[in-house]
Amino acid sequence: MAVCARLCGVGQAGGCRRRAPVEEEEEEEVRAAQEAPRSLLQLPPEILVEIFSCLPGTQLPLLALVCRKFRQILSTDTIWRRRCRTEYGVHENLRKMEVTGVSCREVYVKLLHQYRDILGLWQPDLGPYGGLLNVVVDGLFIIGWMYLPPHDPHVDEPMRLKPVFRIHLMEKKTATVECMYGPKGPHNGQIQMVKKDEFCTKCLQTDYHRMSGGRQEEFRTWLRDDLGRTLDDIFHEHMQELILMKFIYICQYDNCLTYRRIYHPPSRPDDLVKPGFFKGTYGSHGLEIVMLSFHGMTAKATKITGDPNVPAGQPTLEVDLTRPMRLPSIEQLRNFSELSRLVLDIRDLISREQRLAGGVEDAGSSSRAEPAQAPSLVASAEESAANGPDASENGEQQPQDLQQFVLPEEVMARNGEYPRSCRVCFYGTGLIAGHGFSSPERTPGLFILFDDNRFGFIWLELKSFSLYSRMTDKFQNSQPPAPEAFDEMLRAMQLWTT
Ligand SMILES: [Zn+2]
Repeated sequence: MAVCARLCGVGQAGGCRRRAPVEEEEEEEVRAAQEAPRSLLQLPPEILVEIFSCLPGTQLPLLALVCRKFRQILSTDTIWRRRCRTEYGVHENLRKMEVTGVSCREVYVKLLHQYRDILGLWQPDLGPYGGLLNVVVDGLFIIGWMYLPPHDPHVDEPMRLKPVFRIHLMEKKTATVECMYGPKGPHNGQIQMVKKDEFCTKCLQTDYHRMSGGRQEEFRTWLRDDLGRTLDDIFHEHMQELILMKFIYICQYDNCLTYRRIYHPPSRPDDLVKPGFFKGTYGSHGLEIVMLSFHGMTAKATKITGDPNVPAGQPTLEVDLTRPMRLPSIEQLRNFSELSRLVLDIRDLISREQRLAGGVEDAGSSSRAEPAQAPSLVASAEESAANGPDASENGEQQPQDLQQFVLPEEVMARNGEYPRSCRVCFYGTGLIAGHGFSSPERTPGLFILFDDNRFGFIWLELKSFSLYSRMTDKFQNSQPPAPEAFDEMLRAMQLWTT
């Protein structure tokens, strides 16, 4: 205190007005805080624009209610342009569009937000035939693309995309829905959400679908464009009845069509191969779309497109990943009865094990049996893993990991082009049924994983081979909200068409 008295020239009683340096700093802060804006309102508009641009578009209308200043700032198109880009991936044309008098806010509110529930993957309700629709934001449009497989039997070619509807802001007021079906260009249509994950489209001008040559020309055009076939082809292949039936069925939906949401299968790090959508050969029915998904030690291929025998939504293949098979020599493999014996041995082994397991439950542990010995050609799980894609340290497939592959002579393939080596094979079953999905049964076969993007299946009983090739298209807004949601969708799909 003596020191203080000397510095300030005042005694103890007058109190020292000189403060410690720490106190000075504190005051600095207080003063700075007093000078700083006390609320968001005092921030300069350009900062507010930055802040508001980072908030979800759905929150912005609430902010607009706060005060006039906020409302004014929220009319800045920069904010909405950024929301369109961040939330819906709209990159192009936004500035160009402003020239036409439509603001980014209107695009966000009246188009993107308004129709957000129809973005993603859908299956049209075309009875057993199914299909795949992908609804995407494309520039300043929302477009529904129907995915058609390439022409039979070229499974490796890309999918063919056909627009079935589009939505855009023609004028400021509301979004316009247009039907894109038919030869005469876009015309009036409607879209309505029926319930969650289900919507329907309606064409208001079906005369636009008509062709001058009548139904016959429409049939011929459909045959050519959708199936890549001519009348001659289908007469030769004795398919006229099947295909005419499909045409007539599809014509019922000239005016209205319902779509149900489907999800892209969820992917896990230990999956044998990336799950997803594939196109494959399927006997005389032409190419079909299937969805490959993994469920513990089972892989499933679910039909996305179907036919009157086995409709869309059914699990066409089920692969038992606990039953890897090592292929015999090429000479033995050419012999159908040899392959048949190998596959049926596994089928018998499985049913024996199932019987025994049932016996254990019935008779208690005293009758517990040793699992039957696998036939010598069946690779052990470890051996199979050693041959699997994870075997190589660098993750690259080594040539020595591959098994040579050839189709047995009696087995029919739509396409002579198929890989002559494979990574791994498993026992599996395929679903067959009579017309109208009568007496469905699972029939044994061989699942062959060729590489990351191709797999095959030999239908033993049918002596036929299907080759599947991955659809490399990118699908947005298609992930299931939870793994259970995907399983639930698979179950529901089976009921949609039966
Ligand atoms: Zn139409």
